[in-house]
Amino acid sequence: PPPTLLHPEKWCRGFNHFISQCLIKDFEKRPSVTHLLEHPFIRQAHGKDMSLQKQLADLIQAQEQLGFIAKIRYERIHTRRPYRVDAADKHSLDDDLVNLEVLDEDTIIHQLQKRYADLQIYTYVGDILIALNPFQNLSIYSPQFSKLYHGVKRSSNPPHIFASADAAYQGMVTFSKDQCIIISGESGAGKTESAHLIVQHLTFLGKANNRALREKILQVNPLVEAFGNACTAINDNSSRFGKYLEMMFTPTGAVMGAKISEYLLEKSRVIKQAVGEKNFHIFYYIYTAFGVHSVYKILAGILNTGNIEFAAISSQHQTDKSEVPNAEALDNAAALLSIGSEELQEALTSHCVVTRGETIIRTNTVDKAADVRDAMSKALYGRLFSWIVNRINTLLHNAESRMNVGILDIFGFENFTRNSFEQLCINIANEQIQFYFNQHIFALEQMEYQNEGIDATTVEYEDNRPLLDMFLQKPMGVLSLLDEESRFPQATDLTLVDKFEDNLRCKYFWRPKRVELCFGIQHYAGKVLYDAYGFLEKNRDTLPADIVVVLRTSENKLLQQLFSSPLTKTGISLLYFQIDTMEMMRHPEETTNMKRQTVASYFRYSLMDLLSKMVVGQPHFVRCIKPNDDREALKFSQERVLVQLRYTGILETVKIRQQGYSHRILFEEFVKRYYYLAFKAHQTPLGSRESCIAILEKSKLDNWVLGKTKVFLKYYHIEQLNLFLREV
Ligand code: ATP
Ligand code: MG
Repeated sequence: PPPTLLHPEKWCRGFNHFISQCLIKDFEKRPSVTHLLEHPFIRQAHGKDMSLQKQLADLIQAQEQLGFIAKIRYERIHTRRPYRVDAADKHSLDDDLVNLEVLDEDTIIHQLQKRYADLQIYTYVGDILIALNPFQNLSIYSPQFSKLYHGVKRSSNPPHIFASADAAYQGMVTFSKDQCIIISGESGAGKTESAHLIVQHLTFLGKANNRALREKILQVNPLVEAFGNACTAINDNSSRFGKYLEMMFTPTGAVMGAKISEYLLEKSRVIKQAVGEKNFHIFYYIYTAFGVHSVYKILAGILNTGNIEFAAISSQHQTDKSEVPNAEALDNAAALLSIGSEELQEALTSHCVVTRGETIIRTNTVDKAADVRDAMSKALYGRLFSWIVNRINTLLHNAESRMNVGILDIFGFENFTRNSFEQLCINIANEQIQFYFNQHIFALEQMEYQNEGIDATTVEYEDNRPLLDMFLQKPMGVLSLLDEESRFPQATDLTLVDKFEDNLRCKYFWRPKRVELCFGIQHYAGKVLYDAYGFLEKNRDTLPADIVVVLRTSENKLLQQLFSSPLTKTGISLLYFQIDTMEMMRHPEETTNMKRQTVASYFRYSLMDLLSKMVVGQPHFVRCIKPNDDREALKFSQERVLVQLRYTGILETVKIRQQGYSHRILFEEFVKRYYYLAFKAHQTPLGSRESCIAILEKSKLDNWVLGKTKVFLKYYHIEQLNLFLREV
């Protein structure tokens, strides 16, 4: 008899909602454990010779390790003090650090610690939200809570992620302006969870009457994350790609669609994972979801490709030839990818070179063949991921949408025992987000006070601009130097580190003695030691044209499509595809001379693309903080929190928010918006300073300031004015 454990009702709880629904449906259609176990994916992934019981145990264990089961096992914890929602105790001065009279690190940390002990994980700093990871499920995200936070003054309720989502939504509807919610924090701090909650609240707000669309939007995150997230040493569900999700709305605020932009998937995870880490989640799911079927075949094909080995053949004439000793793995991979296994072997163990119009076939050494195999797996997975995102966008994009709220959830700052090229890219991206935060909160704000003749004390903050320049500057920045070195065929990872040492003469870079391939960088969030082993190869990310040719012969239509034509998506992926593959296909003779698209240059481009999207919206910041490294509920490590508060500049943010004005509106715009509060409908007041004063005085607000051209207001002024406006 089948072990009871396997009944989907039970173990499906280990999967996310979308996948478990698919599995349960499948099981309902054919309720047979053997059928599920006979599924080729399980057989491929877990070996054919294991007993049924063992396979099951493995599977369940894989799920356990992914943390999904562990996560759902958390009992709803009844807090010592329940989350305050009753009218009498709704708002407290503690909710906003700006209300603190004594402003120093100790006071802030005690405040946060006290709140955390009461499970008040959210705290405001003016219009910015600090979110401490609770490491336990809290019962504060139900639709009742969405209702509670809908369209009310922020001070009416305790701080909450829904309030931030609500502010963005109200900002979009009231000012007809795109909004952008930027979630930052180190790996495991809770960015992705926060992003989910924001999407949940926004779909609630913009529900209109399209239930199907709402459901689809809610399914996007788990689906994309199945392919783009993985278990790392720090986080069981770590984002291995950057995600910018735009939710599209009508001018009246009804949700119309969504669009995802993905950035820099960590493809290398497909071929190798650090000790204690895992491949992308999708490889551990029993995947029956896509009717599209070819997706599953490609995934299984990637797994089998990883099993292909190479051995050297030495003959009299040739010493650098390789062959595949385990023909079964090769045949399996080829069958799953629907290509000929001989052709695959040839493409892996040899390559064509075109010189002066003549095509010569050269053999690959064992190492080279293994590199080609890995490049193929990475390309397959990378393109499949882009295709899935593209499909989602095709289904959800709505060209008629007028406004959007964008939600940025990228991979957080990382510092492992061994940090490689991927960590460097991830940390540079975080450096860029921190810079954007600084610009908004400090630099632009202070400049505006000056220009408008407003007296505000200057707040000193840690500017990471020099550090960002060190990474991005041309031609002497880290990425440019890396690209330059990647173009020299003779270059090695060691010559790369030498080059860094010779050219990066600043206090943020150092090279430890005795460890040759190591270099250190003083990031805004702390010191990180990088191991440069494999940097050049990872940056070149070459996919030989021979492999593309073979994959194009596949009978799997999807696979053919992935390697034949650029995806119809605009933007980065298209660019990547064109340069990477299409150009090579059209002009193979030029490939050797062509300045290749490296990961570093693609990364630089992606960062710019991301920023260009972000800057058009009104930003809202959510700063996620990890209270401890042990992922334990209710454990607050002062030391760890302090480090994060320091590098994110929270103390300075509190200062500037205490003195500053988060809303700055041109006189004319202000009068246009709030004129009803002081004038009659038939009156046509000028968009002048005097009209603004009339409105503000009539509304009985204080603490506002007028500059040369703008009204300067605190966030609570806006809430109050909007409330008055609704009453009128
Ligand atoms: P990475 O940069 O690695 O992607 P992240 O900042 O996105 O990390 P999350 O995956 O969002 O981190 O959070 C890590 C874990 O912390 C979650 O899997 C969950 O267990 C827990 N967690 C975070 N936020 C919450 C929350 N609001 N409620 C309950 N648990 C949470
Ligand atoms: Mg994440």
